[in-house]
Amino acid sequence: MDLIVRQARRRRETSVCDIGVAAGAIVAVEPRVSARATREIDAGGRLVTPPLVNPHVHLDKALLGDVMRPNRSQTLPEAIEITWDFKRAYTEQDIVERAGAVIEMAVREGTLVVRAFADVDTVGGLMPVRGLLAARARYRHLVTMEIVAFPQEGILRDPGTETLLREAMALGADVVGGLPWYEMTDEDARRHVDVVFAIARERDADIHMLVDDTDDSNSRSLEYLAVKTKRERYGGRVSASHCGALAAYNPTYAAKVIGLVKEAGISIVSNPHISLVLAGRRDAEPVRRGITRVRELVRAGVNVASGQDDVNDPYYPFGRASQLEVALFMAHTAHLTYPDELETVFDMVTINAARAMRLPRYGLAPGDAGDLLVWDAGTVKEALARQRPPAHVVRGGVDVARTTITSELTR
Ligand SMILES: [Zn+2]
Repeated sequence: MDLIVRQARRRRETSVCDIGVAAGAIVAVEPRVSARATREIDAGGRLVTPPLVNPHVHLDKALLGDVMRPNRSQTLPEAIEITWDFKRAYTEQDIVERAGAVIEMAVREGTLVVRAFADVDTVGGLMPVRGLLAARARYRHLVTMEIVAFPQEGILRDPGTETLLREAMALGADVVGGLPWYEMTDEDARRHVDVVFAIARERDADIHMLVDDTDDSNSRSLEYLAVKTKRERYGGRVSASHCGALAAYNPTYAAKVIGLVKEAGISIVSNPHISLVLAGRRDAEPVRRGITRVRELVRAGVNVASGQDDVNDPYYPFGRASQLEVALFMAHTAHLTYPDELETVFDMVTINAARAMRLPRYGLAPGDAGDLLVWDAGTVKEALARQRPPAHVVRGGVDVARTTITSELTR
């Protein structure tokens, strides 16, 4: 064997086991593996999990926060405008460097799979896609990256984008993105969804749209997306991020839409720390939390995942590319703090995100990919509370990152 992790504690298990990896895959999970391996890690009873998965991050815009002009109106529309200045001047090298810095951060924090959104529009053309394709090639040894061709300026609102989306998919993007709520009319929002499905069908590609990212209860593209997904029999292949308006709907309509989402088999991706700062800006007290109806969606059996979204860019000033931090924010924002609920928030950045992306061989059973994390904690609760990066990050049976933290009281 290439690697054995000794005395590993899997989630919800009281006893420990040894995990053996050979030729990039898990081949043994047993109380004691008697074989020896070239490399052995003593987990010593610490928590071992599959890697973190980030289903939503904008690597093309990442780290623009330090060089951008101030957002004077402190609004989302101005954040989009600020990005235009950069998009016109992007180079492939510039995108690779910024994306690469975030990928390196993410890997240290235990994220080995990312779904990266690349803006596709008439402002920046295909440069963001080219940049992320180059970043994917350069960091292939560290991370698995899916690229979403994302129409950040709308499709009908930004004529020419439909053609660019087709070109982006032909260049090598994997997933068709969407932003229906940003169109000028409800009718255009529906046409936007139709165009995305047409392109996805042509390429046999999955879909990930940013849906109803607004406090406006009149924004109703999630309902249409769910119905379209059902009619197109695209269940399991469609994700919808944000869906903040769902929280603003009246309870009867919200229940109807959640039912449709469940029936359609759409995954919902909620990015709590971003919604906390961008939504509710016009609210008088009490100010809403901005996330979608996460608890109700979970209770209805919808697959809910959570992502980083932004790292130090015009939308958000912080971000360590830590999915463990994202899960901690979700616990707070969605009121998910009881023991089972802490497992639920950890699911959102691991197995639920993997399900949304239809990742093959994700888990800790024989036959799964040899990707795993040894945490500096015994349980999920402890990992969430301590917020330390994993002690060991293993990809395909090979160490790709490790963290040692030392601190001492000096008197
Ligand atoms: Zn986003």
